[in-house]
This record gives sequence, structure tokens and C-alpha cells, in this order.
Amino acid sequence: MIYFDHNASTPMLDEVKEEIYRSWTVFGNPSGENSASLRAANEVESARERISELLGTNHQDLIFTSGSTEAISIAIYGIVLAAPMQSNEILVSKIEHKAVIATCYAAAEISGKKVIEIPVTPSGEIDLDFISDKVSKKTAIVCCMSANNETGVIQSTDEILRISKNYDVPLFCDTTQSIGKDPDFGFENLGSMISVVSGHKIYGPKGSGLAVIPRSLQGKMFKVLAGGGQERGFRGGTLNISGILGLAKALDISLSDCDDFDLEMKRMKMSFLLALEKSVQVPLYLNADSAKTLNNTLSLRFDGISAEELLVNFREVVASRASACTAGREEPSHVLLAMGLTTREAEQSIRFSFGRACSLEDIPVAVRDVSDAVDRVLLLSR
Ligand code: PLP
Repeated sequence: MIYFDHNASTPMLDEVKEEIYRSWTVFGNPSGENSASLRAANEVESARERISELLGTNHQDLIFTSGSTEAISIAIYGIVLAAPMQSNEILVSKIEHKAVIATCYAAAEISGKKVIEIPVTPSGEIDLDFISDKVSKKTAIVCCMSANNETGVIQSTDEILRISKNYDVPLFCDTTQSIGKDPDFGFENLGSMISVVSGHKIYGPKGSGLAVIPRSLQGKMFKVLAGGGQERGFRGGTLNISGILGLAKALDISLSDCDDFDLEMKRMKMSFLLALEKSVQVPLYLNADSAKTLNNTLSLRFDGISAEELLVNFREVVASRASACTAGREEPSHVLLAMGLTTREAEQSIRFSFGRACSLEDIPVAVRDVSDAVDRVLLLSR
């Protein structure tokens, strides 16, 4: 198998596995008062300290969760359900992950507010003029991701934050695909917006993650998961110690070698694309061709060929049609449609996402595999 689906999930690093084995000896409940509990609480708090050091945030801003989806819910419901009646608009970009879009619509339904979708340019960049035009005192929250999971397009988070700050509107920025992957990611913004991390996207354990919620916002938010008051009241429930320690280790590694990793990804992406263009029998189109994208992500359209058919014809390469959460369903990618692709074009698009489970040596085999698959599909369709 040649694994080109790292934006869906990543294999755990050996160092992370070791940390998780070690965590199994930490069995006390971190919320208790006895010595086993104290040991557990100390482990969690040192992981929190380490992560806050890595992210450049205050440790009180970190809320451990089961991943990005839960962090997204805590953030969006938290802001929207506490927003005053007159702040009755939710601004969300059309290319957000379904976890964000669906949560915005659900929060709007509960609170009686309305959702306004922000369009994107044909190259997948969130329309800044639209935000400037629409954001006002009536806006409860702006939701714009930092990098898209399907196309890899890196968004102008600095500018979006500047616009929303002008109206004192909270920005929720889904940073799931940026942290640990984009060496230019602006960590200084984490103190002024809500952001999220998912462990399994950065070679950590599934079921781990966090929300970064600046303390200046925490007091203004509704707390959705009350329970035993853990995580400053934002996420009741016994803490997942293995997940938290594994997440800290994964973040440590992915942030410490982010520059080298990015360079390696750039080499892989370019050599795969160039070789593919030479060997595949049909025209190839790069989705988001004029935007700055994550170096590990390549969204390609194989003209005239259904991605669904092509993917089942790969013998070695593992990639995906769209985001993992829409794959398997019949609908075309909402991200590609928002960029102006037709349904047919969206259905011809495949996302290849590179990472630590593949290497430059895999590229020639992968190219051969993909072009053989194209040949087989063409032959069958004649
Ligand atoms: N946001 C983005 C941009 C993602 O790519 C994903 C996962 O695909 C999620 C949110 C959801 O993350 P999790 O699997 O941690 O719930």
C-alpha cells in the first residue's frame, strides 16, 4: 500500500505509541484527591504546560477534547448560544468541514439566528470582501478555516481576524489541517481566535484533540458539556489521559520538524504531479491552481474519468475522492462545487495527501499505479 490519505488520518508515530504505553500505568482519576489521582493530574498538567509552550498560548486556554469535531461543537455552540438576541447572524465559509457547517446550522436552529455562507474564489480562497461587507454588530461569530482539508488552500487568517476584530466579533478558525503542517502558520493569532487541534491528523491517537479558547472569550460562552466541571467547565467527563499524553508527544514532534517535513512534502507533491502529467493518458487539472496550498495536499481532476471508478482501480495507492466524511456518500464535494466546478468535474477529482507514511521512493510506483488505473478505466469504458 502507498498511503496518500494523510488528511483523512495518519499512522501513530512510534514515540507516540511509547508514550501511550507509558500512560497506561497512570490509572488514577485526575479529578480525584488521592495519590493515584494526583499523579494522573500531574501528568495531564505537564502535558498541558508543554502544549501551551509549543503553541505559544496560556495553559488556561486549552480545553482537551476527543478531537476537532467535539472542539468545534464546544466553540460554536458556546459562542452562538450565549450571543445576545441582536447578534443574530452566523457567518461561515462555504468550504468549511461538514463538522463546522452542520454545527452552525444546528446552533442557528436552536437559537433562532440565521446562517450566512461566505463564498470562495475559483481557486478556493475565502472571499474577504464578502466578509468585510457582511460582518457587523449583528454577527455572532465568523467561522473560517486556516487551510482546507480537500484542496489544501491556505486562507488569509490574519486578514479575516483583523476584519472580525474591528467589530469585536469572535473568529472560530478550524486549524485542524494547519497546525503541524504549515510552517508559516501564525501561532500569534491563537490568543485572539478560537482554534482546534485533532490528534489523529498529526500522527497522534484518534479520539484526542483540543480547543484553544482565549480566556477573554471563555467567560462569554455557554458551556455545552457541563458534567463534573472538568476543563474549566467546558468539557465535563473524566479526562482521556492516554489521548492527552499522546497528543502532547505528537504535537511536540510535528511542530519541531515542521520545516523539514514541509520541504519533503513539497518534493513529493511536485515529483508526483510532474511525473503523472507525463504518464497519464487524459488531461489533468489542478484544483486551486493559483492559490497557496499545503505542500502535502494535491487535489487533481482526471478529465473524463470518474474518481470513484479510478480509486477502485488503484492497486497500491490509497487516496480519497473528497473529505473522509463525505466519501462513501453519493454527493460531490461541497468544497469543489463552491469553487465553481460542475458536479461532473467535482466527481472527477481525487485528493492525494502525502505524509510520513510515504516517501519519495514511492513516487514512481505510485505514478505507474495511477496511470495503469487510468488505462484500465478507459479500456472498460470503450
Ligand atoms: N476539520 C477539518 C478541517 C478536518 O479535516 C477534520 C477531519 O477530517 C475535522 C475538522 C474533524 O476532525 P476529527 O476527526 O478530529 O473530529
